[in-house]
Amino acid sequence: MVMKNKADDTVTNETVVEILRSVTDPEIPVLNVIDLGIIRKVTTTYNDPSEPEIDVDITPTYSGCPAMDVISMNIRMALMEKGFRRIRINTILSPAWTTDWMTEEGKEKLRIFGIAPPGPVPALCEPSIFATESAVECPRCGSFHTTMVSRFGSTLCKSQYCCIECSEPFDHFKCH
Ligand SMILES: [Zn+2]
Repeated sequence: MVMKNKADDTVTNETVVEILRSVTDPEIPVLNVIDLGIIRKVTTTYNDPSEPEIDVDITPTYSGCPAMDVISMNIRMALMEKGFRRIRINTILSPAWTTDWMTEEGKEKLRIFGIAPPGPVPALCEPSIFATESAVECPRCGSFHTTMVSRFGSTLCKSQYCCIECSEPFDHFKCH
């Protein structure tokens, strides 16, 4: 029998991050929790050499966003499926999540999915939302000739737009 090298059994934070890439946003299934930028930190602790303890620190996208409970449950389930039993999901509220934490890859996935990704926070999140948010790019044809139809789209996190060029309605992931 070949003795297994201890290092082969050691779970690294990267292992956990790879598992987390399979956990998607229930509202926007093309985005995983890494794309969303809500994973603040992953810590793997070996107090017991045979049983790693996994700590996942998450920051909710929107306080009161019901999807967050689903997301933290899905993170737990994904880790349990891989055989982890000691899992702590810690919610970190400060500093608050901003759309700037979303990865470029995540924003590109949103665009392909047909949702206009959030722009840089200071540029688009002025209080006079109707004046500034008109510069949202249509994810289908790339035109900036778009207009907001509703402050709230299919979920609270999105507002609904319509493209004047291609007359397609689309959601814009609100920045904040
Ligand atoms: Zn368009």
